[in-house]
Amino acid sequence: MHSTMPDDPLTIARILRHASSVHGSAAVSTWHGAGFHRRSYAEVGERAARLAHALRTRLGVRTGTGPRSGQSVVGTFMWNNARHVELFLGVPAMGAVVHALNVRMSAAQLAYVIRHAGDEVVVVDADLVEVIAPVLAGLSDTVRHVVVAGSPPGDGLDHLADFPGEVHDYEELIAGQPADYPWEEDLDEHTAASICYTSGTTGNPKGVVYSHRSVYLHALHVAAPNAYDLSARATAFLIAPMFHVNGWGIPHAAFLAGAGIVLADRHRTPAALARVIEEGRPTFAAAVPTVWAALLEELDARGHGTSSLRRGMVGGAPCPPALMAAYQDRHSVELLHAWGMSETSSLVTTSLPRQGLTAEEEWSRRVSQGQFPAVSRFRVVAPDGAVLPNDGVSAGELQLRGPCVTASYHGGPGSPRVRPAESFTPDGWLRTGDIGKVSPDGYLTLTDRAKDVIKSGGEFISTTEVENALAEHPAVVEAAVVAVPDERWGERPLAAVSLRAGSGVPTEELRDFLARRVRSWMVPERWTVVDSVPKTAVGKYDKRRIQDQYARNLLDVVLLDRRPGGGR
Ligand code: ADP
Repeated sequence: MHSTMPDDPLTIARILRHASSVHGSAAVSTWHGAGFHRRSYAEVGERAARLAHALRTRLGVRTGTGPRSGQSVVGTFMWNNARHVELFLGVPAMGAVVHALNVRMSAAQLAYVIRHAGDEVVVVDADLVEVIAPVLAGLSDTVRHVVVAGSPPGDGLDHLADFPGEVHDYEELIAGQPADYPWEEDLDEHTAASICYTSGTTGNPKGVVYSHRSVYLHALHVAAPNAYDLSARATAFLIAPMFHVNGWGIPHAAFLAGAGIVLADRHRTPAALARVIEEGRPTFAAAVPTVWAALLEELDARGHGTSSLRRGMVGGAPCPPALMAAYQDRHSVELLHAWGMSETSSLVTTSLPRQGLTAEEEWSRRVSQGQFPAVSRFRVVAPDGAVLPNDGVSAGELQLRGPCVTASYHGGPGSPRVRPAESFTPDGWLRTGDIGKVSPDGYLTLTDRAKDVIKSGGEFISTTEVENALAEHPAVVEAAVVAVPDERWGERPLAAVSLRAGSGVPTEELRDFLARRVRSWMVPERWTVVDSVPKTAVGKYDKRRIQDQYARNLLDVVLLDRRPGGGR
């Protein structure tokens, strides 16, 4: 029997139209250093319409429909702010593709991803023009227009003297354009909506292209109570940069649910984030663990108000349970763990414990990577390809598939998509490269990324387990553990830690503390105390950089016996 339901497409244009009419009084609030600049969703809709007209008629942006086929890609090189939200929703809603560029990528990688995605237009926040201008100067074969966003108008234009294409001011470009637009609400829902590149710690970044359908379904999944719990009574603080994995789906989910959004723009210090929480009164916030850790320091030291914040989502890297406990105990904030990756449209699992558990069982769910949602199929696979049971014990590689899980990577302009064997199985599953186990009730616990796990003699050491144990020490702010070569054991762990200011804890004490919590062979002999652990562009520990610094003798390494009480 066929259903009686129509094949009605799920498009971003519908999310935008819905939010700007039904939720027209909800708002994006952008911090300007001393207060918020507030823009209602009705205004966002109007400004997105003006933008879409200008992009189409003045810059020749193609939308995949009409006489000139193909979709243009519009890059953004911006902070988290209301204009960025306009582009995030407006560009796909008109039928083009939005590509949020990572503002901390190297010049070589930026040039690579702009060419590879085929960005024809790049919109840049005025204070970031200086950073990207040298890259754009060499990309005139790809980028035809640069649009500078910010006030005062014209700021930053001088840096673009060597760019051979056209340069525009954002506000001048959209001024005078009509405030409504025939959005592409009936577009084929499989049309590309946005493209996002993995950070490419090994090799070139890989491009994942999200469809209208995948973004819509993902937004429904993350807005729900098991995840961000967004509703018309909620306000989401997107601390993670919008260029990181499609803004964690938050702009789309908030527009869909009618939740407000607060954004910190270029003000990213822990003190600024704390003020945004105090004055913007979000009910929800999302960030990587190192950002939550730095923010905790600030909250503990200065006691900012966090009473509005009910739930925080922490993901992108493993979060030490000690950090979750500190937020709960000292600030009454429920930090939930989330796991996901660029390839899975950002987060998949979230660690809300189900009802009916004892306190201990509840905590074990909270600190796991979280429970799978219905939208994703998952399996744990042994090295020989056998699918392992979800018994909470059997560990292997996590593999996924589903409507929000990519089945290939972007091949570049005019090139076919690519499906490298290290990333996809022949039967169509994504190989995540993460090692873990799943409990019978669908909670995922990761032990490591396959490329980070330490092979010491015959034993595997989980860097996450050692890092989590170290994070329990009250003086430890950050702890990263990496594999380094060892003559006797093949590999051994090196611990890089940063300590709370003035704590002056001797390394031997950290070693003894750790030895009481993990198996003896897991305790590192090599320790380095640093001001701040090196991080990637999105704030995860940069384990490759730590290994490289060790190999080049750039770290001040202390050698200790791994037994408690043992000296140098
Ligand atoms: P990159 O590979 O550049 O870091 P992503 O941001 O897509 O790009 O990272 C996805 C990876 O981040 C996952 O495969 C996983 O290893 C790690 N990750 C994400 N969330 C978590 C989490 N909650 N716990 C542990 N690891 C996580």
